[in-house]
Amino acid sequence: MIRVQVDRCGYCGACVSVCPVGAIELAETHLLISQACVDCGLCLAACPVGALQAEGYADSKRVPLRRRCDVVVVGAGPGGSVAAREAAKLGLSVLLLEKRQEIGSPVRCAEGIAHDMLVPFIEPDPRWISATVTKAQIAVIGSEKTVTRQAEGGKGYILERRVFDRVLAEEAAQAGAQVMVKTAATGLLLEDGVVRGVVARGPAGSMEIECAVVIGADGVESRVGSWAGLDTTLLLRDTMACAQYLLAGIEIDPACCYYYIGQDVAPGGYAWVFPKGEGKANVGLGVQADLATDSALNYLTRFIESQSHLAQGSPVTLVVGGVPVAPLPSRLVADGLMLVGDAARQVDPLTGGGIANAMIAGRLAAEVAAEAIAAGNVSAQALAVYEERWMAARGRKMARSYRLKERFGPDERTSSDFLRVFMVAVGGG
Ligand code: FAD
Repeated sequence: MIRVQVDRCGYCGACVSVCPVGAIELAETHLLISQACVDCGLCLAACPVGALQAEGYADSKRVPLRRRCDVVVVGAGPGGSVAAREAAKLGLSVLLLEKRQEIGSPVRCAEGIAHDMLVPFIEPDPRWISATVTKAQIAVIGSEKTVTRQAEGGKGYILERRVFDRVLAEEAAQAGAQVMVKTAATGLLLEDGVVRGVVARGPAGSMEIECAVVIGADGVESRVGSWAGLDTTLLLRDTMACAQYLLAGIEIDPACCYYYIGQDVAPGGYAWVFPKGEGKANVGLGVQADLATDSALNYLTRFIESQSHLAQGSPVTLVVGGVPVAPLPSRLVADGLMLVGDAARQVDPLTGGGIANAMIAGRLAAEVAAEAIAAGNVSAQALAVYEERWMAARGRKMARSYRLKERFGPDERTSSDFLRVFMVAVGGG
């Protein structure tokens, strides 16, 4: 029986094409090998990355690699890539690890960002901007009639994150960071509880990378913090379960972001329609995980069916994801380690927006890493200045957003007071 090494498999399907007994199935990003396998070994030869092995095969050719650098950044989302880029610009040797084989894909985002929050990090570029938005409309969908509010004057973008995330990683590489894709951090090198590096696994095998500082930018599914003893577990009430289709063939104002609030539409959350140009839009919603009585995807299907202008469209992409809408963990740093972005739960609890926050945190963490390494002290006490700078830059505002989320319970989200608060929050300031 042949077995597949999932961390090497590139899901290309070459093995499926040569199997004479139809024993291999490619189920999107899962390769399944059935009992029908006759061990002929043809698939081994067809695999371009050596991900298939005969049962009992000992991978003696693999030699664990050892490396050293100043900073290892885990995760090449916006937070990690900005951290890596800024740290490299500050003269540090940087390794940026990304477990996916393609940075930015699959997308887990509605891709909205305010102009003012984007430009401190990168000049807007048509290569990764799908739409420029200048208007917002909020509709309250209740048992009676639908009430709408409109705002104009702000400027924002709906990104193409597949490209945006990759461009940020490319900028990190241009600044001198070494980027490794399909390479997952699997643990930390710890010495008496102090973080001394990262254990990683990639196509070339496993690696131990020693470094002065690890920056955990590994997103909502973060493990890096917990490996260092930081508690980043989310409560269900602080987790939004989200589903989104990229709908093609619809007619909407291409410069307007639409929000829909209503307990039946999205309990504890909201639905959105963000234009993507050329008759397309990201149409999605998030539901508070402890309040929803159905999956986010089923809520979304019902929402789209209820809106005739959306129901005429066709889904061409499905996005699903979780968003932390939580208070900040009690610590963002440990000895030799900092957390940024979704890994640090630095998302706006009212809107679920986290791209800009992740980039802000990434830059702050890079600056603090450079200072701490120069001073020869990367203890949690020395790195705590990152927590202070985060609180001054965005943390206090995020804490206020969390208090407002708590103050306006799910039943009160259709009140005019909440709508005012929400309108300001989605403005991105
Ligand atoms: P991520 O972008 O999640 O990047 C983390 C990276 O780490 C990933 O590439 C992952 O593969 C990698 N990684 C994880 N574990 C490992 C490991 N062990 N080793 C190596 N790599 C690892 N925000 C907005 O601002 N605007 C929006 O419109 C918006 N809409 C959203 C809609 C949905 C449906 C969802 C789910 C989220 C949305 N967000 C939005 C939130 C936004 O996507 C995140 O806040 C943002 O991506 C956080 O960036 P990050 O760099 O912290 O993490």
